[in-house]
Amino acid sequence: MSEDGELIPENLRRPASSSTASSPLQRTIADYNTIKEIGEGSFSTVYHAREMFETRRDVAIKMCLKQQILRQKRIDAIMREKNILARLSTKENIHPFIVGLYCTIQDTDHLYFVLTYASEGDLATILKKLPNRRFDEAQARFYTAELVEALDHIHSLGVIHRDVKPDNILIQASGHILLSDFGSAKELSAIKEAPAENPPDDRPKRRASFVGTAQFVTPEMLKGQPVDETCDYWAVGVSLFQFLTGHHCFHDESEYLIFQRIQKLLYKFPEDFPENARNLVVDLLVLEPNGRLGSSERGGIADLKSHPFFEALDWKNLTSSEPPKKS
Ligand code: ATP
Repeated sequence: MSEDGELIPENLRRPASSSTASSPLQRTIADYNTIKEIGEGSFSTVYHAREMFETRRDVAIKMCLKQQILRQKRIDAIMREKNILARLSTKENIHPFIVGLYCTIQDTDHLYFVLTYASEGDLATILKKLPNRRFDEAQARFYTAELVEALDHIHSLGVIHRDVKPDNILIQASGHILLSDFGSAKELSAIKEAPAENPPDDRPKRRASFVGTAQFVTPEMLKGQPVDETCDYWAVGVSLFQFLTGHHCFHDESEYLIFQRIQKLLYKFPEDFPENARNLVVDLLVLEPNGRLGSSERGGIADLKSHPFFEALDWKNLTSSEPPKKS
């Protein structure tokens, strides 16, 4: 942080995409009317707010305390999240299923991320409120397909999410998903610039550090091995299992026991688990990253999208397709 309390330098505060004719270069928090608090994360509080200028959009404002960022040595992490979000929010890169960053703002004590607003909450909370705590097959297929589409997009830009889970899949008023929380994301391009870290096959990979949530951690993360985009496909498998059962596939009393289960691939399908979904989960939950469906060794994203679970799904028109009805 600079001496005058700036965490984010002036020239980094606004992503290119938010430079609309109607928005002046620098917003302040007084330009937003806070409607209500949505929730708290480990490092932030998120609010629903409305723009007080011409566009009058509803937004989500993620507020972080500068002191807390400094105390917990999170400046690099926050800058990385900000830079990744800004890159994903440019006019060329913005995607309908991925949270967009309108701008960042800071005052003496706070740093604010102004984000696309998802009014319907996250899929983990939505699941918990359902009478039988699970989605039907059509709903699970729809959310999984939109998640795969969102991941395909960020991977094509060299970004891996590393914390994919139903809690980070938000639902917009339109019923479509918004992949959020890029606090654990990594840019693989950084590896290309640091040849010493590249593995022998020259594919950009990154040595893993433990990030994310115990039930969603991948076997390679637990072994401290490099991670690539296939870690997100593992998480698609874990999420799909949760969509259709209402619980985690790797479930136990302690993190240690959960990790044991992950490393031994110990999980069990309930009898009524749909067959095509079961086959897809089996194809995604593969201990070896390059054995996972979606990896380049297994036909890449094209083979994942043409899995029988997605048969008859109109990938090209997902954005305009009707979201599944609430059960
Ligand atoms: P952690 O920071 O520990 O990963 P978290 O993911 O819950 O926890 P945040 O990402 O700060 O933390 O989110 C806090 C709450 O705000 C969550 O309930 C989340 O669903 C909600 N939220 C986050 N971003 C948005 C958004 N763009 N629109 C609507 N709600 C959001």
